[in-house]
Amino acid sequence: MTTVLVVEDEESIRVALADKLRTEGFQVEVASGGLEGLEAARRLRPGLVILDLMLPGLPGLEVLRRLRSEALPSAVIVLTARDRETDRVVGLELGADDYVTKPFSVRELVARVRAVLRRGESASAPAGAAERVYIGDVEVDFAAYRARRGAGEPVPLSPLEARMLRYLVSRRGRVVPRDEFLNAVWGYQAYPTTRTVDFHVKNLRRKIEEDPSHPRHIVTVHGVGYRFDE
Ligand code: CA
Repeated sequence: MTTVLVVEDEESIRVALADKLRTEGFQVEVASGGLEGLEAARRLRPGLVILDLMLPGLPGLEVLRRLRSEALPSAVIVLTARDRETDRVVGLELGADDYVTKPFSVRELVARVRAVLRRGESASAPAGAAERVYIGDVEVDFAAYRARRGAGEPVPLSPLEARMLRYLVSRRGRVVPRDEFLNAVWGYQAYPTTRTVDFHVKNLRRKIEEDPSHPRHIVTVHGVGYRFDE
């Protein structure tokens, strides 16, 4: 049974979400503040975290940043207010898997939860895919969500970055059209903006390329998409 952690200070939303998710067969844990949510995520390592961004104490974006820097493998859906476009963009840039704008229907959110979890399953371990690959002198461990250059310190990868890289590696040497890449990594329902994709590609290059400004592995094919070269 998948555990979903709901981090939301507004009691009515928290209770409604928890009830609905339990009815849908999920194991649900709740937290009403940022720090409490972060601690619960560390302890429970839930399959998915529903994270409100407007929280007392530690703000949601900071919770997300820490989750990702600690390479916790949970998928994250952030809840944002309609007039907080910046939060949404920053949330995705920090490695949220999806976002839902308030006010939302509980049914819609549950559908997003299922979509994000499905995407994680299909992308995290394609049949026959290696858990560990070497890209130049960089070792990438998909299962542990991290990359390491030579004997250096491991660099955490977000689940999203791991999915992006894994998809490109599985099609090495071939051009992956942009649409195909977006479908495979983000899914049909939640296309990110161009700026968001570029941001993630840039981050990924910083982690695995020797010279990120002249990438040799994650190559942009202008007007078409991306190609992974050994
Ligand atoms: Ca709130």
